[in-house]
Amino acid sequence: MILKKDSCQETMKKKFRVFATCDIGEAIEVLRQRGYEVEVYPHPEAPPKKLILEKVQSGVDGLITTLRDPIDAEVFEAGAGKLKVVAQIAVGFDNINRADANRYKVPFTHTADVLTEATAEFAFFMMGTLARKMWSAEHLTREHKWGYWHPFLPFLGDEVTGKTVAVIGTGRIGLAFIKKCIGFDMNVLCYDPAYENQGFVKAVQEIHDLRQARGLVKEKPWIKYVPFEEALREADFVSVHVPLLRASESATPTYHLFNAKTLRLMKPTAHLVNTSRGPVIDEAALAVALQENWIGGAALDVYEKEPLPADSPLRDPAIADRCRLLPHFASAARITRLSTDPDKGMAGRCVQGLIDVIEGNYSGDVTKMPYVVNKEGFGK
Ligand code: NAD
Repeated sequence: MILKKDSCQETMKKKFRVFATCDIGEAIEVLRQRGYEVEVYPHPEAPPKKLILEKVQSGVDGLITTLRDPIDAEVFEAGAGKLKVVAQIAVGFDNINRADANRYKVPFTHTADVLTEATAEFAFFMMGTLARKMWSAEHLTREHKWGYWHPFLPFLGDEVTGKTVAVIGTGRIGLAFIKKCIGFDMNVLCYDPAYENQGFVKAVQEIHDLRQARGLVKEKPWIKYVPFEEALREADFVSVHVPLLRASESATPTYHLFNAKTLRLMKPTAHLVNTSRGPVIDEAALAVALQENWIGGAALDVYEKEPLPADSPLRDPAIADRCRLLPHFASAARITRLSTDPDKGMAGRCVQGLIDVIEGNYSGDVTKMPYVVNKEGFGK
């Protein structure tokens, strides 16, 4: 674990108390070694909210949370004057009410960056698995239905190489995803209403130019920013990398960004990949889109309700060949999840974010703490 230079370990007199809503591995021991009293909720499921309220009410200094825990005014009220920080082990924080955190002056931290590459590569693999029908193909083998080699029977997949992919949201993970696509000579349509990273686009185009100049590709791939509708109409694949933002939180909300109207804009052969947040897609509309072949397929890692309910229309066996369902797994890689190094692992970064706030690193200036999200709540 790399501790920041101005950490005040030696001067720490008070025993800080932390409640973790889930086990985050060795990083918990890092806190204990620093003298923290840490209670870990021992079950794999999320604790009931009532228990979180009880712990906060009892005066814990810090909460370690996951995306499963609703952290809102009720929690901040229970911890008023006592709760110093909420440290979320995830980059997304749609479960934390930012306005409430600011109202109660509680900073919350997240674990951006350390999961960027793992999530991006998982999205890329989902795209390939879906397009090349790997799940259906393995089932043929396992279920002894692989009776012959034939040019097109029982089915074929679609190549990824050289195709056009739309990347919706070009933040950290969207850009990392594009870097994976470069090696597969893909054309890229970017869409992001907040910021168009033209420097990144220029750098990618330079790589494409060089690859063609050196004879590595015949046809030069391209990359450009386009409006949302154009991205959907032109793409063979669409990969979603946006935060979940509701209408009250953004002028360009992402809640149900993919719905009956926008899904119909996609090509009937196009594939949709979602590793962002479930409610970004209207699942009922997506199920119909797959059943009625408006689009070619979908691979999902996240859902409107998690775990995916038994009666979800996405489980319809009739669409199983073109609907991949993963269990919110995109960042689930060993180092990414558990390394205690805050520059490598979500657990390490989560704990460092908590320490920064509780121990008053960066001279106690929350706005200077790298992992704090709601810095706007603490401006002078
Ligand atoms: P980021 O903030 O760096 O990037 C998000 C981008 O989306 C930003 O550039 C933003 O401008 C853009 N955006 C906002 N509203 C948009 C809209 N209406 N249309 C298109 N783009 C819009 O975040 P990140 O680190 O890249 O992570 C993105 C999201 O991925 C997280 O918020 C989280 O919900 C999700 N995520 C999921 C997993 C997983 O395990 N499945 C893992 C990591 C992250």
